[in-house]
Amino acid sequence: MSTLETQGLGKTYGDFVALAPTDITVEKGEFLTLLGPSGSGKTTLLSLIAGLSEADSGRILMDGKDVTYAAPYQRDIGMMFQNYALFPHMTIAENIAFPLKMRKTSAAESARLVKEALEMVRLPHIADRYPKELSGGQQQRVALARCTIYRPSVILMDEPLGALDKKLRDQMQFEILRIHKEIGGTIVYVTHDQEEAMTMSDRICLMNHGRIAQLGTPADLYFRPQSIFVADFLGEANLINGRLVSEAGMVRLNDGSEIRVSLPRPIAQGTEVKVMLRPQNLRLAETANSDSISGKLISSSVTGASTKFFLDAPALGDKPLIATRATGLSEAAPEPGRDYRLTFDPRDAVAIPASEAA
Ligand code: ATP
Repeated sequence: MSTLETQGLGKTYGDFVALAPTDITVEKGEFLTLLGPSGSGKTTLLSLIAGLSEADSGRILMDGKDVTYAAPYQRDIGMMFQNYALFPHMTIAENIAFPLKMRKTSAAESARLVKEALEMVRLPHIADRYPKELSGGQQQRVALARCTIYRPSVILMDEPLGALDKKLRDQMQFEILRIHKEIGGTIVYVTHDQEEAMTMSDRICLMNHGRIAQLGTPADLYFRPQSIFVADFLGEANLINGRLVSEAGMVRLNDGSEIRVSLPRPIAQGTEVKVMLRPQNLRLAETANSDSISGKLISSSVTGASTKFFLDAPALGDKPLIATRATGLSEAAPEPGRDYRLTFDPRDAVAIPASEAA
């Protein structure tokens, strides 16, 4: 049985649809991330699950039980937000023990669980301090200890690392994953950081305009996007216009050349498509026999671990084509102004119907 299920769950504000009727099933122990641009409905969905706002349509089931109209504290849910939301007048131990107090846990059991929770988040010596005496990262660890101490079956996290700097965020991502493994609950996590979503999630629910654009594993979304929005949102993508001339996967580009592509699902012959090619899957070559696009090198830049090449490609139109490769001195530097062939494996060239923008 799944831990959490929404059936046709929707929310409107006046005429505005913040969340169109949405069906999601989250399995026990799963780490599901709601990802999407600002205003796409992530927080709306999370608040409905938490019971912080009321749905206009649909149902929420937890372990098969209808909790659509249950108060937040009646749902078996823990919550963690971007602003640490610790009680300033309580010590750290009192903060962490708060959910236990609400559940009338005995003082001895509570003390034991708080000690264990502080060890779990690697802050064993701060029980008697107050929140203002801790750094942002430490406060967020305490918030993590507080929302997991009573082992809720579902933990909801809304941009919990949004206020931390990059290095601390990386560390905390690792900590959250470690603790998730240790306690084994189901996590629904909201972020608009695609790298964070790819790193942490079992599955990603990518949202756009209050709807699910695609729900799947990070690899599904990255390698097999079902719309141009998904291809563009996750990582960098070259999107090349063409027409499918064979249902076996042959696309004619605007410059008249033909390339082999892969079709994640059947597309009718004659359909206008965009072929997605990730920059790291394009290699610059002097000559090529097949599966290549031509382009003139405009410029290159070393971005650190990879070097980025910008090419003028007749097949692409006015946007430059981007290719990357690992930065190193073993290969000769390509020369700006020269014509190259950009070769690729057809499995990495994914055709998406051009009409499926959303
Ligand atoms: P962000 O990443 O910026 O937090 P989000 O994906 O979480 O965005 P939501 O907060 O779910 O987006 O908002 C979805 C849409 O619903 C937005 O356009 C927002 O303006 C609108 N909205 C949210 N709450 C209300 C409200 N109380 N009244 C009216 N409109 C609202």
